[in-house]
Amino acid sequence: MDHTPIYDIFVVGGGINGCGIARDAAGRGYSVFLAEMDDLASGTSSGSTKLIHGGLRYLEHYEFRLVREALMEREVLWRNAPHIIWPMRFVLPYARGLRPAWMLRLGLFIYDHIGGRKLLPPTRTLDMRTDPAGKPLKPIFSKAFEYSDGWVNDARLVVLNARDAADRGAQIRTRTELEDARFEDGVWTVLLHDRTGETHYEVRARLIVNAAGPWVDHVLSQALGRNDVHNVRLVQGSHIVVARKFDDPRAYFFQNADGRIIFAIPYEEDFTLIGTTDQDYTGDPHGVKITDHEVDYLCSAASEYFTEPVRRSDIVWTYSAVRPLYDDGASKAQEATRDYVLRVEPGEGPIVNAFGGKITTYRRLSEAMLDKIGDILGKKGRPWTVKAPLPGGDFPATAYDAQVEKLKKAYPFLELRHARRLVRLYGTRAGDLLGLARSVSDLGRHFGADLYEAEVRYLIANEWAMTAEDILWRRTKRGLRLTSGEATELDEFMKGLGRRHSAAAE
Ligand SMILES: Cc1cc2nc3c(=O)[nH]c(=O)nc-3n(C[C@H](O)[C@H](O)[C@H](O)COP(=O)(O)OP(=O)(O)OC[C@H]3O[C@@H](n4cnc5c(N)ncnc54)[C@H](O)[C@@H]3O)c2cc1C
Repeated sequence: MDHTPIYDIFVVGGGINGCGIARDAAGRGYSVFLAEMDDLASGTSSGSTKLIHGGLRYLEHYEFRLVREALMEREVLWRNAPHIIWPMRFVLPYARGLRPAWMLRLGLFIYDHIGGRKLLPPTRTLDMRTDPAGKPLKPIFSKAFEYSDGWVNDARLVVLNARDAADRGAQIRTRTELEDARFEDGVWTVLLHDRTGETHYEVRARLIVNAAGPWVDHVLSQALGRNDVHNVRLVQGSHIVVARKFDDPRAYFFQNADGRIIFAIPYEEDFTLIGTTDQDYTGDPHGVKITDHEVDYLCSAASEYFTEPVRRSDIVWTYSAVRPLYDDGASKAQEATRDYVLRVEPGEGPIVNAFGGKITTYRRLSEAMLDKIGDILGKKGRPWTVKAPLPGGDFPATAYDAQVEKLKKAYPFLELRHARRLVRLYGTRAGDLLGLARSVSDLGRHFGADLYEAEVRYLIANEWAMTAEDILWRRTKRGLRLTSGEATELDEFMKGLGRRHSAAAE
């Protein structure tokens, strides 16, 4: 007789949707096992534009349900994670020959009024000849609208959902791929490949949630044996990062002559993030890379607005990701719906698929998924995540500065910039990372910029970080600051720790 435990729910995929679902389910009392084949947020969920937004552009496609739900989520998510999510004002210049001013004003009026806005300020009109937002732009843009949306550290939102899921009892396994599954006697047995130890093992569960993002069809056809699978349309989007183009804390929303739009957003203190693009993609989503055409497009679209053009040589980093959009048959990539669809897969053994969705709506998607799960497994608990801070987010939404001050008081040796960064990443848990440190030297080895051993060890122990890349490009963005030599040293250090751990385990 097999005595291995039977989990209620097996979740495939450690992106925002998989981790959000795992957290919600664990909090309601289901037993949960989540497998992520690479690192948490290594798929689409670290490659977004990082906006918690209703999606002004989607109003043109009459996606009122999605826009309303997403707008309502802005303040919910901000309150639950004020360290990694914060409000941002967007400046949308009116450009002659593109959308008329009345249309922009009408869109923003709807945007302001359908989304339960309480804390976020409303739209206003700017005279760009006098407003500081006009300064870096060409003088032809004399009028603009300024509206509210939110900013999110996308990769950290994923990890904090995973952390909270684990704190509530979920098993989270990274570098673990679902390779195969069979349904026998009312139970799934899934075959997992542990890529760190190159071993295989099995886990049993009553239901599978397929939250594999761009791989959702691949998982259905390859691991779960379904035929004729074509549910999602893969659409590549890329971003470029350049040295800071402007000092203003506001972001820009630029319309392009082809009807598309791009954002230029203040990023990581000293940089500007510019994106994104929309082009159909085929191939393995992990191999997605910016194309020459996308670089040219982003540079020239931004240069239509900035007085000082954006040149290829200004680019310090790029990233690309693939949107797993539910295939609604739209002819153009930018017109395909951004809404999510949850579907119980027909056939033997319960599988529920999540197709599409946005970072912004992950919590609502998770609640809807829990309804479907409840129908199959029997209901447990009630929706609870609307007023539940994520780890480190248990402070008032508008109290970030006070939180920084508190940390500085407890650790006076921290530079202000360092304290601000730690509160932005870890919120009230920054103290767990710093422990009993009384001076910088207590933080251990210095890897470059303000990255010390204490933070590295915290990320390994609490946030599933295994490689230098996990730390430099997902848990933090210190990759923008460390030299390649410093990054290699961090990598060597982490490999050394891994070797010591495995030697101790033998
Ligand atoms: C360019 C771009 C910009 C965007 N901007 C925004 C934005 O500003 N705001 C917003 O709200 N949304 C935005 N989005 C949308 C948002 O990023 C995605 O909807 C969201 O990240 C999808 O999350 P996911 O969990 O479904 O997929 P993913 O994050 O890709 O997660 C799926 C995971 O499944 C894992 N996996 C796959 N197969 C297996 C297997 N066999 N075994 C184990 N694990 C497996 C993968 O490794 C992956 O990590 C943007 C998307 C793109 C591409």
